[in-house]
Amino acid sequence: MDGTLNNDIEKVVDADRAHVWHHLIQHKPFETGAPRIIVEGKGMRVWDQHGKEHLDAVSGGVWTVNVGYGRERIANAVRDQLIKLNYFAGTTGSIPGALFSERLIEKMPGMSRVYYTNSGSEANEKAFKMVRQIAHKRYGGKKHKILYRERDYHGSTLATMSAGGQDERNAQYGPFAPGFVRVPHCMEYRAQWDLSGEEYGVAAANAIEEVILAEGPDTVGALCLEPVTAGGGVITPPPGYWPRVQEICRKYDILLHIDEVVCGVGRTGTWFGYQHYGIEPDFVTMAKGVASGYAAIACCVTNEKVFDMFKEAPEDPMDYFRDISTFGGCTAGPAAALENMAIIEEEGLLENTTAMGDYMLDQLSALQDKHAVIGEVRGKGLFLGAELVADRDSREPVDEKLAQAVVGDCNAQGVIIGVTNRSIPGFNNTLCYSPALISTKDDIDQIVEATDKALTKVFG
Ligand code: PMP
Repeated sequence: MDGTLNNDIEKVVDADRAHVWHHLIQHKPFETGAPRIIVEGKGMRVWDQHGKEHLDAVSGGVWTVNVGYGRERIANAVRDQLIKLNYFAGTTGSIPGALFSERLIEKMPGMSRVYYTNSGSEANEKAFKMVRQIAHKRYGGKKHKILYRERDYHGSTLATMSAGGQDERNAQYGPFAPGFVRVPHCMEYRAQWDLSGEEYGVAAANAIEEVILAEGPDTVGALCLEPVTAGGGVITPPPGYWPRVQEICRKYDILLHIDEVVCGVGRTGTWFGYQHYGIEPDFVTMAKGVASGYAAIACCVTNEKVFDMFKEAPEDPMDYFRDISTFGGCTAGPAAALENMAIIEEEGLLENTTAMGDYMLDQLSALQDKHAVIGEVRGKGLFLGAELVADRDSREPVDEKLAQAVVGDCNAQGVIIGVTNRSIPGFNNTLCYSPALISTKDDIDQIVEATDKALTKVFG
């Protein structure tokens, strides 16, 4: 920390307490306690208003700051670009927009077009709108349904919540948009069928086919899935799942939309999570890691098959994608994203993510041997979860307050970890780890050690 923390910080805290509505939390405790203000960050670490250092094991709280804090190179590129040209609407091109799209598509064989927007929710909405428009253009509006999966999350807007698989998040916000249909989850640890391994994976995919058949294949336009479910429980897909999902989509001419808002841009050790599983998607949406939070940027990427459908009848005034995102025309996003991608390449961060992810998985598995409360450790790359259960045989989740206590104790030790969202009540019991892709063994040891101590303190 460079010492810029000054006496005025109390004024900042007062202003925050009086006027800021923080995301995703109950504010009552702030009437007496102070909100936490993060003042500065460098590498894997951040400092709060008290000057206390925290090792950030969740990349900015929500798996975003993939290349770590304090990257002057990104800040300088953004500064230079803003001075040259900060904005012009996305109806026209920009230099960083064109160059980043080219670099991005190089990493995504089979894909071809980048639609810029500024949040993960918005990127997903773009894909949903494209699916709806294709239904109208080609199928008289009939093939309009969008399938989504139990436990997956696709955003905070009403249409993306209509595709939200975490019931507790949706409670009190309905009614939702029609035409979104839920398919079962694919979490082997909490399997719905008495099967395991590949058999389970194929059964979970076949369950999607059952929904398609029940709805009528000619009414289903797309299937939207996270490659590894994030907030819903850090759920890695079972073997056999993805090949069968792909086969089903092809069989019924259903567009496959992969939501890479969390997994995208290195988080799992490949550029995109879907690339572990040999999938050929039609849509890929991404946000958080695209510019690691240095600028707001999100992308809805499509293949040429989808893009071509929007220029079939150029003489028809309704034939193009009639959509705009004002801030999709900001140049700071792609300028930051270009540098972010260059850093990942030059510093070998995909390789580091795979190596450190394997190391962390081993270390967390060792904790599992020590603490009976850890029911399962799972994840891919530096995107890991440790599910806490009251009983290993019954797999009954621990009381949510106890999972929160573990997070709180890690925080007190100066290590910020997360816990999965309240999804299906009783399932917000998975500790989450998504440290920056620059993590070292020492960082991981510190995170695991803090968890170890916290588990001992809370569970004995
Ligand atoms: N998809 C997934 C998988 C996410 O985890 C999130 C955000 N947590 C979103 C979409 C929505 O992104 P945003 O908050 O940028 O709208």
